[in-house]
Amino acid sequence: MYLFGIFKEFVPLVSIKKLTTKNTPKTRFTMSEMNGIVTQVQQVSPIMKIFKIRPVGWEIPEFKPGQFCALALPASAERCEESVAEPKELAPHKMIKRAYSIASASSADELEFYITLVHSGALTPRLFNLKVGDKIEIGKRFVGMFTLDSIPPEQNIILIATGTGVAPYMSMLRTDALTRTGKITVVHGAANSWDLGYSSELRLLESVTDKLTYIPTITEPQKEPVEWKGETKFIQDLWSEGIIEEKMGYKPTPENTHIFICGNPNMIDAVQELLEKDGFTKHKPKTPGQIHIEAF
Ligand SMILES: Cc1cc2nc3c(=O)[nH]c(=O)nc-3n(C[C@H](O)[C@H](O)[C@H](O)COP(=O)(O)OP(=O)(O)OC[C@H]3O[C@@H](n4cnc5c(N)ncnc54)[C@H](O)[C@@H]3O)c2cc1C
Repeated sequence: MYLFGIFKEFVPLVSIKKLTTKNTPKTRFTMSEMNGIVTQVQQVSPIMKIFKIRPVGWEIPEFKPGQFCALALPASAERCEESVAEPKELAPHKMIKRAYSIASASSADELEFYITLVHSGALTPRLFNLKVGDKIEIGKRFVGMFTLDSIPPEQNIILIATGTGVAPYMSMLRTDALTRTGKITVVHGAANSWDLGYSSELRLLESVTDKLTYIPTITEPQKEPVEWKGETKFIQDLWSEGIIEEKMGYKPTPENTHIFICGNPNMIDAVQELLEKDGFTKHKPKTPGQIHIEAF
């Protein structure tokens, strides 16, 4: 429901730049300038990029780590070469907007996003064509309940993600999560090691604090050019076989631990089912529980 709210604010806006698409005739627009500029694009894997975007002429509003905002581009923006044609042609002036979790610290003066290319998607092929200096529209409402706000600092937290689902956890860890007194575990699953964005930063953090345990796992180890020595099981199997518990060094219970799950809906369902068997319940505003979910 709250997603609807953030999208209402968008009206067709377009950069002063000339934007074109392969699927529509080239068109020049003179509409108000978009409110963000791309300052860095980092290719993490063939289908994953980290974008840094700076607001132009406005300040990033106060937001809580774990929240998200919308990014938007007009349909006239060109799609990247790797994309496939979109199912239906869009009017060039139409703004395409989607929600993205913020990966940067809430004090940073630029916003960071970790995004997967959906080859047939409407927005990501256009995002993946952006270069440093290109304009983009950022929704000014930063929202979401997937935060550590209501979790007492002495409680342990387990942050489970697949793919780009690790983004909100980076914002939490970069902002203030490490000042908590409870233990923090990040479990990050992906097909290949090169899809494990932020792994260097997470390994570094793990090495400087005994508060953090980082458990990366990949499901296609046979494709690794260099032997992968870490976990190779699905996250739900790591949980049910007690591997996560063993690596964390404590038994997570509904009394001592809150669990955040973000990313692929199938992984979320599978992990949620296991957690519920262990007595954890889904957090809802009226019935607080220990399972917190953000599905992409
Ligand atoms: C609260 C929230 C936060 C989000 N944060 C992020 C984020 O940090 N990073 C990120 O990459 N995405 C994030 N998403 C997903 C994002 O909003 C878009 O759905 C996604 O980028 C696809 O947009 P698109 O316009 O390219 O594809 P669309 O045209 O919207 O979708 C085309 C089809 O692809 C499917 N699809 C959507 N995402 C994927 C995927 N990852 N892999 C395969 N198929 C997919 C859709 O179900 C749809 O059927 C978030 C979503 C929500 C609701």
